[in-house]
Amino acid sequence: VITLTPEEALVSSRIRKLKEQAGSHSPSIISLNEQIPELNIQIDACFLSNPYATDVFLVYLKNELLSNDLKLRDVLEFYPSQNEVIANVLAHGLGVNVNNIFVGNGAVEVIQAVMHNFIKNKVVINVPTFSPYYEYVKEGKQVVYYALNKEDDFTINVDHYIAFIRANQPDTIVLINPNNPDGGYIAYEQLRKILVGLKQVENIIIDESFVHFAFEDENRTLITATELFKEFENVIVIKSMSKDFGIAGIRCGYGVMNKYKVMNLLKNGYLWNSNGLSEYFFRLYERDDFKQAYEVVRKRYIADAQQFFQALRDIPHIRVYPSKANFALLELLDGTTSADFVSKLLIKYGVYTRNCSDKIGLHGEFVRIAGRTRDQNEAIIAALRDMYGA
Ligand SMILES: *Cc1c(COP(=O)(O)O)cnc(C)c1O
Repeated sequence: VITLTPEEALVSSRIRKLKEQAGSHSPSIISLNEQIPELNIQIDACFLSNPYATDVFLVYLKNELLSNDLKLRDVLEFYPSQNEVIANVLAHGLGVNVNNIFVGNGAVEVIQAVMHNFIKNKVVINVPTFSPYYEYVKEGKQVVYYALNKEDDFTINVDHYIAFIRANQPDTIVLINPNNPDGGYIAYEQLRKILVGLKQVENIIIDESFVHFAFEDENRTLITATELFKEFENVIVIKSMSKDFGIAGIRCGYGVMNKYKVMNLLKNGYLWNSNGLSEYFFRLYERDDFKQAYEVVRKRYIADAQQFFQALRDIPHIRVYPSKANFALLELLDGTTSADFVSKLLIKYGVYTRNCSDKIGLHGEFVRIAGRTRDQNEAIIAALRDMYGA
């Protein structure tokens, strides 16, 4: 069992205070470093992004924007394009009509817009989940939780789920694929089966913010629910670019949905909700040269992450749940609390991970750990071995 020294316990209580201020999200590295300067954070395995993708974006940014005063000035001085104009940039690549796309200031804005505007009476949310899905449900609407169980590795039993939804008759359901925080994945054909079985549900939200890390074949071919939207009008695809493109700071996300839903949202505002940098990214995202550079680092990162999860499985006293995302959910089996695990790893080894004790629907001691660069993954494994004396 991992326990803290008295000094570590003091620092740990200060970390807990910061966490309380951050609500259901984790304090950022920036605020941790600011508030607890004696922490020597080496690796952020709490935040869930592909660091190789950030490198690719930075090269473009430096070569095309930062080294060109006129272009940089345009991005800063002028209004970015309106929502529909950026939607038009995305339409071709996504293979849907411009009026099916709603661009958000990060996916969280899309989640907020959809949860506020389209839930009529009742929503079913699978737990554990990404907290904004239940936090943004307006008062007076009913939230029903569907439990994903650790005994099933947090996977969905499709027939059971369909029966549950039919019995509860919600107007809105939420599927995050792969799911945060467990990395559980619903294969494309299974997802399609759910949609075939639930045509009567008005809004089927599919959040595929981690889908660039998922795969079903050796080639790591990208599989997206946008294809399913083309077949099922009740689908609302929500996509964050933050994690898989490593650009959370510039706030890029979008939703794909039926055109009446997009019209409904745009008449309530959201005109210039992107910024100059996010518009630059969205235009880059549609370019072949960028796509090719990105595909290389997407596949490299998936390989590294899966290798990392495999190495984690050799650490004693922890269970590593199967994941098709870029993070793994760990369950601590030896009586160590998730708070002590996270504090020890942070204070003694400089590795920041996510304590999942605030996640509804998790029963036990759980920590989420993100894959980083290959070198950093190796350093994390070494730290864990040392921590457990393995
Ligand atoms: C992080 C996350 C988001 C939000 O992403 P932003 O684009 O940064 O707002 C949305 N959905 C899930 C499942 C996430 O984990």
